[in-house]
Amino acid sequence: MKNQYDYVIVGAGVAAATIAKGLLEHKHDTSILILEAGPEIIAKDRRFWWDYITRGERPYTFTYDQKFEADSTGNIEYQTDGVRVKAYGGSTMHWGAWCLRFRPEDFNLHTNTGEGADWPINYEDLESYYNDAEAFLSVCGDDNANWIPRSKPYPVPPFEWTAADGAMIEAWEQLDVVYQDGDIDPGTKTKIKSGKMPIARYRKCMTTGTCKYCPIGGRFNAQYVLDDLKNDTRFINFEVRVNAPVHKVNASSKSKIESVTYTDNLNGKKHTVYGDTIILASGAYNVPKLLRASKNEFWQDGIGNDYDLVGRFVVSHSMLNVVGKAKSNPNGWFQEYDFPTLMSHSYNTKEHQKKGKIFMFKNRTTPNVDIAQLMIEGKTREEIDEIVYGEMTINLQAFLEEKGKFSNRLEAKPGVDRFGLPLTTVHFSRTDEEMKNANDRLRLLEQVIEKMGLEVTSSRIDKPGGHHTTGTARMGTSPENSVTDKFMKVHDTDNLYVCSNAAFPTGSAVNPTLTLTAMAFRLVEHLKKTNQIKSKIEDVNTVDTI
Ligand SMILES: Cc1cc2nc3c(=O)[nH]c(=O)nc-3n(C[C@H](O)[C@H](O)[C@H](O)COP(=O)(O)OP(=O)(O)OC[C@H]3O[C@@H](n4cnc5c(N)ncnc54)[C@H](O)[C@@H]3O)c2cc1C
Ligand code: SF4
Repeated sequence: MKNQYDYVIVGAGVAAATIAKGLLEHKHDTSILILEAGPEIIAKDRRFWWDYITRGERPYTFTYDQKFEADSTGNIEYQTDGVRVKAYGGSTMHWGAWCLRFRPEDFNLHTNTGEGADWPINYEDLESYYNDAEAFLSVCGDDNANWIPRSKPYPVPPFEWTAADGAMIEAWEQLDVVYQDGDIDPGTKTKIKSGKMPIARYRKCMTTGTCKYCPIGGRFNAQYVLDDLKNDTRFINFEVRVNAPVHKVNASSKSKIESVTYTDNLNGKKHTVYGDTIILASGAYNVPKLLRASKNEFWQDGIGNDYDLVGRFVVSHSMLNVVGKAKSNPNGWFQEYDFPTLMSHSYNTKEHQKKGKIFMFKNRTTPNVDIAQLMIEGKTREEIDEIVYGEMTINLQAFLEEKGKFSNRLEAKPGVDRFGLPLTTVHFSRTDEEMKNANDRLRLLEQVIEKMGLEVTSSRIDKPGGHHTTGTARMGTSPENSVTDKFMKVHDTDNLYVCSNAAFPTGSAVNPTLTLTAMAFRLVEHLKKTNQIKSKIEDVNTVDTI
């Protein structure tokens, strides 16, 4: 079995897929090995799809962290179980595919508030890569949206607002919640309506409502990209090994990382594979755990951990969640899509950074009825009308930004899961002030629901958790303040990179994956340049020795 590659990538999620595609399209015979701990789960399968529709079973739930595999300590419970997918394709097997850019102020949190961290790059450094990421993920968005500077239009037009979004827009307007971010022509009061949620679609959507297992591959899934690369005959040196958990990164000196060691889960054998460049794309849980597990004579507390920073500053989003109920649903509204279409950036701005940004969106409306199913069940016209026009609920949600703290840390708990990956413990606490701010934000959401004339039936702050974990191997300007440099290269190494939400110094208030994909495109550009220079040096050396 081949054991030497130009690039060895750990993990087979969207980060790995973006890098592999970028490098292979640049140079077709680049040798790349991707090692994925989890199994391959079939996507776009009719049988699995029917099981999901009829029994609510998704084929990948057995890959989630189980309750007993993940602990949480601190004054807030951190949800570690039941979210991540550990499989070929990673969590894009079941993500929501909402694709929002971070805003310029997210890169300067510490400068603006004295808390959290600044990024070693700015929004402008990433803007062109955001364009690449949106094209790659096929993001549907509103070209008129002006909540953020952008140099290219969205590749795909936005989804329309749903009927029930209108009532919330009216409530927002009464409360000065903007879903429109300014004047088209300052002074004329002509507003741009930019509150349409950008969503990634790999191929054209043909139906609605089952996006957590899409029967036709409409929702982006990293697996499709990796399959396309494997099937492309130009890429003769591209390989993916599943069921292959990496448990150690090996160094031959402080700066030179030479190989990784993994176990073949199908026969229990251990293998070491060598890479000129090694990239950890194993997600924000497993990047820090793997770095700390990789102790050696040069890195006695784990690679990149000389200053005890690996796994620290963990953040995620908590969801603020308010449900309103109306006694009847005279318009017969129900949810057209399995994702939100209306959003607001009103509280996701620089002005709100100190208190903690929130990003608001209208989520599900019920009843979410399948009329055909009701007919199959033998319901009469009158009974169906009663359900459709009867009691309804509307759900308003928001993601809450958290600020990274030294004491909040994700680390390995003794033992391994079914795939040979270490278990997890997260220590996570909020200050009293952060608790108060979160509750104030919740009151705001309740006001919107009340303005809609609905009765608030539930109002809660959900746990932060695995969905959007970031910050566990953050980027910065020196080993004293961070784990990686501005190209996500682990400080003091020549060739070990982290391409993951782990490298984010802040989590903003919006979902991370578009930013991660943009960072992966930026890394590809960096590697192309670095390795070109390297091969020129090698050429010169070769000539010298002849
Ligand atoms: C329910 C849910 C909904 C989400 N919705 C959205 C959304 O709407 N928008 C958005 O922007 N983001 C969303 N996210 C987040 C999004 O899924 C992640 O940002 C993204 O998938 C991260 O990609 P990744 O490639 O870094 O890591 P992952 O997808 O986690 O992939 C990493 C892979 O590495 C493997 N691995 C880990 N350790 C090792 C090891 N030691 N050896 C070998 N393999 C290893 C894992 O098994 C995994 O398959 C959602 C996440 C969840 C859980
Ligand atoms: S709306 Fe339908 S086709 Fe589109 S991603 Fe969801 S399940 Fe797939």
